[in-house]
Amino acid sequence: MVEENLDSIEDTSVEETPVETFDVIYSCLRCATNVSNTELSRLPEIKCICGFRVFTKVRPPVVKTVKAV
Ligand SMILES: [Zn+2]
Repeated sequence: MVEENLDSIEDTSVEETPVETFDVIYSCLRCATNVSNTELSRLPEIKCICGFRVFTKVRPPVVKTVKAV
C-alpha cells in the first residue's frame, strides 16, 4: 500500500521518537561519554565506546515538575 509507505517515511524522518520510554542517559565513569539507554539496548552488551562498562545514571535534560498537592 502506498499509504503505508508514506507512513514509514514520515516515521524515519522524525529523529526523536515521541515514544514514552525511559530515556535515561548514562555517563561512562572513565571517559564521561553520555549514552542513552536506547543506544545501550541496541548494543550486544552494555559497554562504552572506550570499552569501559561502568556507567552512572545521568538525569535527562527534560525536567519534570511535580506539583505537590
Ligand atoms: Zn567510556
